Amino acid sequence: MQAAQEKKLRKVVYLTFPPESSNKPVVCDLARVYGLDFSILKAQITPRHEGQMTLELSGPAEAFEAGLAYLRDQGIGVAPAAQRISRDDACCIHCGMCTALCPTRALSLNITTRFVEFDDEACSACGMCTKVCPVAAMDVLLENGVM
Ligand code: SF4
Ligand code: SF4
Repeated sequence: MQAAQEKKLRKVVYLTFPPESSNKPVVCDLARVYGLDFSILKAQITPRHEGQMTLELSGPAEAFEAGLAYLRDQGIGVAPAAQRISRDDACCIHCGMCTALCPTRALSLNITTRFVEFDDEACSACGMCTKVCPVAAMDVLLENGVM
């Protein structure tokens, strides 16, 4: 019988590397060994040679958990990074592209004013709008001081 379609996860995580692991290719292993997609949002090395990295990770749930367990086994601290979306109202040109794909209808067209309205209470921070906005009015903010 065909296996049920695997559940996919997408999360932003904040990693802290002790000095002894800051030069190991552990993040590459997430893709090479565990098949996860990653995008480095921010990385820095402190004066004590500890590494800090904010990483967006996506992939099948099982591989995701295995990949995070691998990082922890390497002595790397893994913490969720709370993500929030904001809109630069001065930048938005009300083109409406984001409204077509917003899953929670946090972005919607006001048919009276023809302006696109953003309800941040309804936003699930999925990030879809940030990928299509032609003027980059939608921005991702990470809330634990890492960006
Ligand atoms: S982040 Fe997702 S839920 Fe929030 S406004 Fe953008 S598309 Fe809608
Ligand atoms: S895609 Fe960008 S410019 Fe267009 S309505 Fe949405 S936020 Fe505004």
